[in-house]
Amino acid sequence: MSISPLMPVYPRCGFRPVRGDHCHLIGEDGRRYLDFAAGIAVNILGHSHPGLIGAIQRQAETLMHVSNLYGSPQGEHLAQRLVDLTFADTVFFTNSGAEAVECAIKTARAYHQHAGNTERFELITFNNAFHGRTIATISASSQEKMHKGFMPLLPGFKYAPFDDLEAAKALIGPNTAGFLVEPVQGEGGIRPASDAFMHGLRALADEHDLLLVLDEVQCGVCRTGTFYAYEQYGIVPDVVATAKGIGGGFPLGACLATEKAARGMIAGTHGSTYGGNPLAMAAGEAVLDAVANPAFLAHVTAMGERLRSRLEQFIGNYPELFELVRGRGLMLGVKMRSEPRPFVAHLRDNHQLLTVSAGDNTLRLVPPLVIDESHIDEFMDKLSAAAATFRVEEPA
Ligand SMILES: *Cc1c(COP(=O)(O)O)cnc(C)c1O
Repeated sequence: MSISPLMPVYPRCGFRPVRGDHCHLIGEDGRRYLDFAAGIAVNILGHSHPGLIGAIQRQAETLMHVSNLYGSPQGEHLAQRLVDLTFADTVFFTNSGAEAVECAIKTARAYHQHAGNTERFELITFNNAFHGRTIATISASSQEKMHKGFMPLLPGFKYAPFDDLEAAKALIGPNTAGFLVEPVQGEGGIRPASDAFMHGLRALADEHDLLLVLDEVQCGVCRTGTFYAYEQYGIVPDVVATAKGIGGGFPLGACLATEKAARGMIAGTHGSTYGGNPLAMAAGEAVLDAVANPAFLAHVTAMGERLRSRLEQFIGNYPELFELVRGRGLMLGVKMRSEPRPFVAHLRDNHQLLTVSAGDNTLRLVPPLVIDESHIDEFMDKLSAAAATFRVEEPA
């Protein structure tokens, strides 16, 4: 047997974390790393958050899992909180982002098919989007590297260039059901959509009775300084997929929808064995307890502005390495002059700083939302030390 017991689908690096401590991770070798990756925008409360731990411990002792065959006081309570905090009227809980997007895709198709429009099944999506790794969600992405070996794709997706309203409009036809878009592309390179683009999609959706479906799996749950990123655009979506930060590290996602958009999602049409179980609901409640308040959002905005301005001042020292800073709140990207992976490895292996690469040569910074000034100082010290010693030809 030469295959590893863990299916070798990830090119894993040598860092092997065994313990978390607020905004740091401790490796098997005892070394301490500053975590500006946060499990890829998941650990919004950092590691070892007492409120989250306590909630999970208490719920695990009380009731961990039952079934969606039964009434769910826990699910109703968390769903009501999300409804009160957002545009949504109704919520379906999932265990991951891809499942939340799957539910969003089904909701959009069912919206039309429930009304007898069986030909309206197509979603217009955008180049370099990332929506997950299931067959439907890779089909929703134009990225060929995710398709290779998994053909045929699921029919029903058309791709337009991101942030190009005219191109999206030109794809609308008799089969169109809606748009699926990340307001801030994550994997694609921390690229925020323009206001004009988001407003234009909303107007086109209204004009053609299409659903505006947002994938806020990465940019949602306070990451950009508002509870959801759509709020900053001043638009109201029909459906939003959310996950990552919403469980703070516990596997939890949700599909949020208006009553109208969810008209096809009637009894018997969708389900999940684990989705919305009491343990996951307790984690979601603990996250909302910590983040769903104006003071927390103000903290994210302040830390985001501070980190961004420090970065903008800094990158001018190394024009041969860095091009620009972009993003919103604490979802920031530094566009580099070349593929960022060797620099990510250098930061990690030589300076104990964890970051993530993203598309379009982007160094992605998605720290815990609970960072303070001291973490930004530590980050900048490590980044400047790393930039001073980095050689572009250095092997990864
Ligand atoms: C991470 C991500 C997903 C997929 O989430 P999983 O939990 O890995 O299934 C979907 N959409 C976006 C925008 C993401 O960043």
